[in-house]
Amino acid sequence: MEKFQGIAVSPGVALGEALVLDNQGFRIPRRFVQHDAVEQEVQRLHQAIQATRQQIARNRDAINQQLGPHYGAIFDAHLQMLQDEKLLREIEQLVRRRHFSPEYAVSRVLRRYARVFEQLPGPFAEKATDIFDIQRRLLRELLGRDRQELGHLTSPVLVLAHSLTPSEVAGFDPQYVKGFVTEVGGPGSHTAIVAQGLEIPAVVGTGPFLTAVSGGEEVILDADQGWVILDPDEATRQEYQQRIRRRERWLVELRSLDQQEARTADGVRIELMGNIELPQEAEHCRRRGADGIGLYRTEFLYLQSPTPPSEEEHYQAYAQVVQAMQGRVVVIRTFDLGADKLRHLPEPEEQANPFLGLRSLRLALRHTEMFRTQLRAIVRAAALGPVRVLFPFVSTLRELRQAKTVLADVVEDLQEQGQGPPEPVPVGMMIEIPSAAILADLFVPEVDFVSIGTNDLTQYTLAADRGNREVSSLYNPCDPAVLRLLKNTIEQADRHGKPVNVCGQVGSMPECVILLLGLGLRRLSVAPGAIAQVKRICRRVTLPQCQQVAQRALGMDDGRTVQLFLRQEIKQLDGETLV
Ligand code: PEP
Ligand code: MG
Repeated sequence: MEKFQGIAVSPGVALGEALVLDNQGFRIPRRFVQHDAVEQEVQRLHQAIQATRQQIARNRDAINQQLGPHYGAIFDAHLQMLQDEKLLREIEQLVRRRHFSPEYAVSRVLRRYARVFEQLPGPFAEKATDIFDIQRRLLRELLGRDRQELGHLTSPVLVLAHSLTPSEVAGFDPQYVKGFVTEVGGPGSHTAIVAQGLEIPAVVGTGPFLTAVSGGEEVILDADQGWVILDPDEATRQEYQQRIRRRERWLVELRSLDQQEARTADGVRIELMGNIELPQEAEHCRRRGADGIGLYRTEFLYLQSPTPPSEEEHYQAYAQVVQAMQGRVVVIRTFDLGADKLRHLPEPEEQANPFLGLRSLRLALRHTEMFRTQLRAIVRAAALGPVRVLFPFVSTLRELRQAKTVLADVVEDLQEQGQGPPEPVPVGMMIEIPSAAILADLFVPEVDFVSIGTNDLTQYTLAADRGNREVSSLYNPCDPAVLRLLKNTIEQADRHGKPVNVCGQVGSMPECVILLLGLGLRRLSVAPGAIAQVKRICRRVTLPQCQQVAQRALGMDDGRTVQLFLRQEIKQLDGETLV
């Protein structure tokens, strides 16, 4: 049994068979071959080795010609390894004697070699990369496919990978992917957010552990505490089986709240909405009794296809959401592409610092045709129900005014064509850049509502990349600096009588819910899987209790202290909350 600690980003516990993707995204299966198929499989192995050798030799010759023999020597080293009798015999023996599949035998032997090299100092450690490269080539020959097949699973698995993009996770079928772990990644990444949306338990940022596991091995994923446990012993397995059963009972209990309102114990109504990435999640939110969709992250429409969606494709997606919500509010955010959500609009010179670059609304204002296509669809969808437009990533008033001008222009065009909205479409902005939070008094009067994006607000206030595990301890939405920005924004919105919502992940964190209510928020937009739990907390606390908690938190000078304090408080106020 081996345990690795990562960052829990989407709660849940799961026990099951590992599907391992190496750092090139290749699936490492564990499969035994039938006794009478051994010879055939050995032959397949030899063919793959032969084909790989030929491919490497071809690459070497091409590089020799282009750059000279010095560079081609890298491939010679790979060829030598693939001619190493001892190594090849070892792989073959695993197939012959233990009836391992060639894929599994290759990955097992090469991973062991790589592991030895990884533990050596200096340049020897780099040898491990060469071994992974050979493994990748061999597996490509043997498997003849790549990570696309993740979309075609037929049995439940836990996916263990070096990294996963948000759109790869969006393609997971929760019926089969029972959880995932990635070696890299931080708490606020969009990969984590999509996992929450699909309610797939997830742990990220464990650091290297994939060399210790092969496909098919039993794994426990404790995404409440951030653990991944390989090859668990019997006592651990039993403990987790019990926890899984307890969790199932807890979830059944939460279902009883689906038809109830979010209202504090002293009777104050809290508007509780859902955050979605994919149209089909809207139905889920409605079943959980959400008051609407507080944040529809539309950029996933762009990430899932090789060309930007047409106006009609946008419209169909929005119509699906609006219809699913049956008259409840739907806040559609215009595309927030760039940074970790890239496609269609490559800006290579921007890549050195993508989170500070041409991202989101900045891209939209640069590519106004694409922006207009989306806005037209949103405005048309407003004829079907109460739709609101939300602009992300606003850093200056000038940008906000530009975006509003484009929208006004689109509305005018549609009106001329007889497709204008029946009523003006309310316009809101995300407050997720410190400049906007600091100048909330100037921004708020220019919009109909604001939505605070604490994920980015935390990242930019503390200069801590939300997707980087190395700075995950700095990335703290409870930091006093973030709390002051939150307080200022809420106060300014209240002063101007404009609705204010929080749609960042803090809203889904039980201990932060009491803080947010205490700071004056009456609207929250949370991950679909968190709706019931947040509702439960709202119903168990009174506003004076929350105000007292917020008052004390605001007096603290350290984010970690605030977090610990909040966890203690929520345990006292609602002992059964899973935190
Ligand atoms: C945020 O930044 O808090 C937010 C809700 O937007 P996203 O997570 O999509 O960047
Ligand atoms: Mg954001």
